[in-house]
Amino acid sequence: MSLFTDSLDRLSWSRDIANITDVRFQALHHPDMFVEVTIPVLMDDGATKFFTGFRCRYDSVRGPAKGGIRFHHGVNPHEVKSLAFWMMLKTALVDLPLGGGKGGVIVNARELSHGELERLSRGYVRALFDVLGPDTDVPAPDVATNPQVMSWMTQEYETIARKKAAATFTGKPLSIGGIRGRNEATAAGSMRVIQNWLDHTSRGDEKLAVAIQGFGNAGAILAGLLYDRGHKIVAVSDSRGAIYDPNGLDIPEVTATKANEGRVSAYKGAESIELDALLGLDVELLLPSALENAITAENADQIKAPLIAEVANGPISFDAEKILGERGVTILPDILVNSGGVTVSWMEWMQNRSGDQWSAARVAERLNQMLDDASAAVFERASAEDVPVRMAAYAIAMERLQP
Ligand code: NAD
Repeated sequence: MSLFTDSLDRLSWSRDIANITDVRFQALHHPDMFVEVTIPVLMDDGATKFFTGFRCRYDSVRGPAKGGIRFHHGVNPHEVKSLAFWMMLKTALVDLPLGGGKGGVIVNARELSHGELERLSRGYVRALFDVLGPDTDVPAPDVATNPQVMSWMTQEYETIARKKAAATFTGKPLSIGGIRGRNEATAAGSMRVIQNWLDHTSRGDEKLAVAIQGFGNAGAILAGLLYDRGHKIVAVSDSRGAIYDPNGLDIPEVTATKANEGRVSAYKGAESIELDALLGLDVELLLPSALENAITAENADQIKAPLIAEVANGPISFDAEKILGERGVTILPDILVNSGGVTVSWMEWMQNRSGDQWSAARVAERLNQMLDDASAAVFERASAEDVPVRMAAYAIAMERLQP
């Protein structure tokens, strides 16, 4: 079963409680557009390498497609379609006037020099110029892409278009129209949704033992927010290793180590554990914050955490979700937990279209209010219908996708 068919199965699973017509439900099984392109890049040694890139515009009924661009060796059509599909559900769930999109390039970005990365980023835009634009499809950063990449892409787009077009990309540096708070938005949103859940279940003041898989933009910033609120982060990992301290890690120190050494395992004073062992730790909250399918039917039995918040997109396969559900594990779904990123991206897009500049306080206030509304709608629906949180979230999203 591919990641994409897994995603569609979840749609069918949630349909029982969703008020949506047959034809619209069927339409949601098919992306509006999926393009594959070849991007020639002049490498530093004088050779030309050919990279494969993708862009998917899944559904634009609610507004222009919105979704990140991923640079990773594991990028493939199923993944891009799934990520675009989840973006469609996410923007609908948070009630943004946007559709779902996603893109990627098959590349190990760590192996590229600065100049090669710039040429690849600009090449992606040249290859896909016709399908991108503020009223059609608005990309953002994702795994291994960042404000610098968005800056190159925006400049390339504007060079070809011969006009300013800042609203074509979000996640840009502040100097070219980025918005305050975008870098922290995904983690801040995840923090808000987790706290909303704790409040909803009358555990608002509890300090939890937490394990975090993935120490990148989403996972590392969230680790800092949880740490500041007094939660005990006992384990974190990145692709190169995992560290564990049952007494709690010093997250500012781990963050500094990661910044200086490029890996969390260089942090002194914690035990090194296997990457997979982190997922099976006896913690109160597990945060898969890396990539898809971290938890599958193969390792679902090892999970001890009673609560999982999906900071990454699609970290739990549908089979694994059923196993965990039978054991009473609560899963807070990706389309709610990590929706802070696209919500602030939407604010950046609005800011660029109006020529305004939003303050950090205005961004934070609006983000909190929107995530509180989305959390309340989802948690109340899950309670009222006595269904898993994801099913309630999917049903609400589907209903908002009904024109
Ligand atoms: P990132 O590239 O900044 O970080 C990813 C992290 O995961 C890195 O630390 C990497 O080393 C680690 N990792 C990869 N494979 C791993 C493994 N097998 N075990 C442990 N760690 C591993 O990416 P990011 O932006 O933080 O995105 C992470 C996830 O969050 C993705 O699923 C992404 O789609 C999702 N997400 C991100 C944003 C955002 O704004 N950044 C928004 C919504 C969703």
